[in-house]
Amino acid sequence: KNCKIFTVIFRDMEGSLTARDRVGIQDFVLLDAYTSETAFMDNLRKRFNENLIYTYIGTLLVSVNPYKELGIYTKKQMDIYMGVNFFELPPHIFALADNVYRTMISETNNHFILISGESGAGKTEASKTVLQFYAVCCPSTRLLDNVRDRLLLSNPVLEAFGNAKTLKNDNSSRFGKYMDIQFDHQGAAVGGHILSYLLEKSRVVHQNRGERNFHIFYQLVEGGEDELLRWLGLERNCQKYRYLIQGECAKVSSINDKSDWKTVQKALTIIEFSEKDIEHLFAIIASVLHLGNVHFEASAHGYATLNSSAEVHWLSKVLSTDTSISIYHFQVLSPFTAEHAKYARDALAKAIYGRTFSWLVNKINESLANKDSTRKTVIGLLDIYGFEVFDVNSFEQFCINFCNEKLQQLFIQLTLKSEQEEYEMEGIEWEPVPYFNNKIICDLVEEKHRGIISILDEECLRPGEATDFTFLEKLEEKMCGHPHFVTHKLADPKTRKTLERGDFRLLHYAGEVTYSVVGKFHLMQTVATQFKSSLAGLTEILMTKEPWYVRCLKPNHCKQPDHFDDVMVRHQVKYLGLMEHLRVRRAGFAYRRRYEVFLKRYKALCPDTWPHWKGTPAEGVQRLIKHLGYKPDEYKMGRTKIFIRHPRTLFATEDAFEI
Ligand code: ATP
Ligand code: MG
Repeated sequence: KNCKIFTVIFRDMEGSLTARDRVGIQDFVLLDAYTSETAFMDNLRKRFNENLIYTYIGTLLVSVNPYKELGIYTKKQMDIYMGVNFFELPPHIFALADNVYRTMISETNNHFILISGESGAGKTEASKTVLQFYAVCCPSTRLLDNVRDRLLLSNPVLEAFGNAKTLKNDNSSRFGKYMDIQFDHQGAAVGGHILSYLLEKSRVVHQNRGERNFHIFYQLVEGGEDELLRWLGLERNCQKYRYLIQGECAKVSSINDKSDWKTVQKALTIIEFSEKDIEHLFAIIASVLHLGNVHFEASAHGYATLNSSAEVHWLSKVLSTDTSISIYHFQVLSPFTAEHAKYARDALAKAIYGRTFSWLVNKINESLANKDSTRKTVIGLLDIYGFEVFDVNSFEQFCINFCNEKLQQLFIQLTLKSEQEEYEMEGIEWEPVPYFNNKIICDLVEEKHRGIISILDEECLRPGEATDFTFLEKLEEKMCGHPHFVTHKLADPKTRKTLERGDFRLLHYAGEVTYSVVGKFHLMQTVATQFKSSLAGLTEILMTKEPWYVRCLKPNHCKQPDHFDDVMVRHQVKYLGLMEHLRVRRAGFAYRRRYEVFLKRYKALCPDTWPHWKGTPAEGVQRLIKHLGYKPDEYKMGRTKIFIRHPRTLFATEDAFEI
């Protein structure tokens, strides 16, 4: 069956020029003018116009967000892709998921799928699709159905609490997520574990115009049952809550808060949150809304006075606390200015929400935990916030973009390193391909004693003396001359015009971003340091596993279907290093097979090797390919594997079965 399909596709791609002209080539490695970016773009555009959003570069999957339902994620499609060799069907995320799964089973080792791309490129959708594929396609029992449902339903819960509408994406992930799916030796999904990274807490108290707070707030207000809202002291009107209306877009056409509320409720029950847990959870969410409406004014003496007795009453009720602090019947008063009081209120709201989110992740992990101690293999799914640039970029964007910088570094290390190591181990000569190494930018941010985060730490050790501007001055002193760092003072006259005095600009791998230090970076010392070490921890986790990549591309800025913005896509192709990756795949050998595996599959094609070959597998392969007429420049014999330069050679061999 496989060979048949394979041949059809091969013919379609290589044989029929009309089909090829129309739908392009499904693996960039097969492009004739492979080094040309224009040919790359033409192929991508051609396929996109035919609703073919997936294309391979070898085993890497490139995906372009279609911004419309394509009907390609059905059970029927899953069945088609299940258990079929990677290159035998048109590119699909199911093919990648299936290949990872089968490699994990046959080699009993751990894997991860790194899904990357900028905000709105389709990472979260891709990661959900992969999870769905495993949930549906892996063997299961009635007992394991529970695990499967919980794995799937952890998504709507985490998205409700951790995603929000931004200018770039109506469902933007505002936290990083790494999820291990654990499989037993029969390949059944038996458990999972989630690690979350730096939630964008500032969104709880502030949203830019055109953006929203986390979905869950709107879901509660729009979808919460009358009785629940009454109990929490909430009105069914988002406009009443200061924390929900700063972006002036509480209603979003692509989002149905009411039905999402129902989904989340169902999910919480299936993940086994008790009724009490759910009650507490929403009491806390309501407390944040009440807190946002607590209003302070400056008294004649300059101190804050509280004019919100109703809110404070509800706050104390939903949080089960007293309305004031008393010691020995004396009420304790803290003399704050109105500004300080507002700051403290917002800090409390952020802390409450942040802790609730961590609690939620822990609860989900308890529910996904596999109690059985037998050895498991895992497939990790990494879906983080994508690279983003707004008009005003703050500490949050600095962290998000640094995280993307680190993952790009990991991609570079793993793709080039593993390729180089394999050629070296197999004794195959290889000419390295030049590429832009973004380590210089990672170091700029995180290097010990010299990086931006270290300087932030140092400045924060001088309370009272340090300000946003002394921090910036320190940066200027230490980073002067660095090719990826610019400030107003360090810039040439032309660039200077585009920079404010409180800004610094980083030339990231994915583009320039101007960050404003005003009012934010001080405060963030421990957060930055913690984030840096949690990313180092993540890198360590990933380095022990076998990597697979999905590179997501965003076709346009306006979230529109059928609109392929050439300049925008070309920019992403460039910074994601797709051309370099392709060159590495082409300069080297696109496909490789262990001698035993190659011989086992194709020995029937040669009378000398069929049905039994008595010599070594390498000798058998040599005899086989001589019989098949492989030309010397088409392949190389390594120590344990045959390396085939071009997939076409392999395709022709597969085709020989038909003949
Ligand atoms: P962020 O970094 O902001 O979290 P993201 O890369 O995770 O962005 P997604 O949320 O996955 O982006 O995708 C944005 C939107 O694009 C989705 O809500 C959906 O409407 C659309 N989309 C993404 N991928 C697909 C797809 N494969 N098919 C149809 N629509 C898609
Ligand atoms: Mg996302």
